[in-house]
Amino acid sequence: MVKENLLEVEEKIQEACKKSGRSRDAVTLIAVSKTKPVSMIEEAIAAGIREFGENKPQELKEKYEVLPKDLRWHMIGHLQRNKVKYVVPRACMIHSIDSVRLAEEVSQEAVKHGLRIPVLVEVNVAEEETKGGVTVPETESFIRQIAPLPGISVQGLMTIAPFVENAEDNRYVFEKLRKLSVDIKSKNIDNVIMCNLSMGMTGDYQVAIEEGATMVRVGTGIFGERHYTI
Ligand SMILES: *Cc1c(COP(=O)(O)O)cnc(C)c1O
Repeated sequence: MVKENLLEVEEKIQEACKKSGRSRDAVTLIAVSKTKPVSMIEEAIAAGIREFGENKPQELKEKYEVLPKDLRWHMIGHLQRNKVKYVVPRACMIHSIDSVRLAEEVSQEAVKHGLRIPVLVEVNVAEEETKGGVTVPETESFIRQIAPLPGISVQGLMTIAPFVENAEDNRYVFEKLRKLSVDIKSKNIDNVIMCNLSMGMTGDYQVAIEEGATMVRVGTGIFGERHYTI
């Protein structure tokens, strides 16, 4: 099932790239494997996937330990400072930096390991109360505050768009994030490379790609519905 789903997702990604005149290479598919067993991740690996997304530090750690070491793990969920130690030595990127204290903790832990870890700043574009992230007007000054930290490298922006029935309803969110990214890039802030836009999930990744996503995070569309039993 994973293999068939992946073929369909790949087709839709190519369609969106073609429609928007973008190269397929410009978009990374992150398979969001949270709550799903290692056996399903192995099916995705067999189908050629190497980039995976998790939102729980402990779960990321456990899967990291048992799976091949050439996989790239993306931390995409809300991160508590006391869990940073599980993530920093294992993740290739943290997408959910939304406070100075979290950025400082990540930086400190990375320096301990001799690393400089790529991070994205999570932006709450739609200003939903239930979601983390800095607001659009706060983003530039937030980036200026965290950019000098020695253990992180700010490499772009991430957003979780609202849940909508019609993906088109989120187009303005993606467009707004891209414009913000272009605006910040033009400021040439030291230690900041605005090269990534992590946006788009199962319901809206095609629209996100049309609006410039460089990373899409797809869970349900690859692994099926999630059942939270614990
Ligand atoms: C779970 C999750 C996803 C994947 O969501 P789907 O709708 O299942 O594709 C993407 N991004 C984040 C931050 C998530 O927590």
